[in-house]
Amino acid sequence: RAKAHQRSSHSYFTVDMGVEIRERVRMMHALRAAFENERLFVVYQPQIDMRTQSPVGAEALLRWKNEEGQFVPPDQFIPIAEYSGLIVDIGEWVLRSACFELIHLHNLGFTDFKMAVNVSQAQFSHPLFLQSLERALTDTRAPANCLELEITESMAMNDPEMLIKTLHHIKQLGVQISIDDFGTGFSSLSHLQKLNVDKLKIDRAFVNEINDKSGEGSIAKMIVQLSQSLNIKVIAEGVETKLQADTLMGFGCHLAQGYLYARPKTQLDLRAWLAQGPDHWRLN
Ligand code: C2E
Ligand code: MG
Ligand code: MG
Ligand code: MG
Repeated sequence: RAKAHQRSSHSYFTVDMGVEIRERVRMMHALRAAFENERLFVVYQPQIDMRTQSPVGAEALLRWKNEEGQFVPPDQFIPIAEYSGLIVDIGEWVLRSACFELIHLHNLGFTDFKMAVNVSQAQFSHPLFLQSLERALTDTRAPANCLELEITESMAMNDPEMLIKTLHHIKQLGVQISIDDFGTGFSSLSHLQKLNVDKLKIDRAFVNEINDKSGEGSIAKMIVQLSQSLNIKVIAEGVETKLQADTLMGFGCHLAQGYLYARPKTQLDLRAWLAQGPDHWRLN
């Protein structure tokens, strides 16, 4: 994005915009075709209790391999799916896929395993969202308290009243709510308290600040303290180093997701990885 912006400052902005819009429309058609032809798939990134180094759950993440065989990053195609409304159907399919996988893992013996699913604003504010959530739970028989929906702070800013009402219904089902990328969205702390969420996910950017150059991770520390005073759970995203894991544990954050422990895995790879057991999961 920075690059495009630089370029547009010394060329014709409208010309660049035109190309960009055409490209977006092309991508939207390709994404719809990929969805209809079942060429999207879901991967699962384990979430770890750092104290035992054992997986306690996973986050479902959407993947798209295009006609040329290349992966299109979600950060590129999710906004297009949102903008075009495609996210409503695609998101419902991700939710159902994740619930089926959750129950499969429970049946394999990982009975406390949790599943987190990202939910966009457009899905959340759709009149049929609650119905599709209930249907996913009854059709798959996934226990609601093992399902967690990840929303973002900006959703709290757009329409807090709608959000509070929807969250209330979701919580009545027993489904958990977490706030993704926490700390990047400038939502107010009073909102946060009213939303009554179950978990904060510390954004990767703040975990990144824990390094041996200068970083102590003061924002990550503050988010952990905030979660403690609100009496809710906290998980760190994008944990890549032992230093980050140890520092976060020192702050009192025990849950983590990141390449240090595990990358996102296909359904079959996740099952195989889980089956390998503790000796395989643990770091040296
Ligand atoms: P997110 O929900 O914050 O997901 C975490 C992202 O961080 C994932 O990127 C994951 O692969 C990446 N990640 C995890 N650990 C590490 C690490 O140690 N280092 C680094 N560098 N990255 C790490 P991914 O899969 O590319 O997804 C990007 C974003 O796309 C997600 O961010 C989420 O906002 C969105 N997204 C993905 N799948 C879905 C979906 O099914 N529905 C919706 N609405 N959004 C989705
Ligand atoms: Mg997420
Ligand atoms: Mg995140
Ligand atoms: Mg993100």
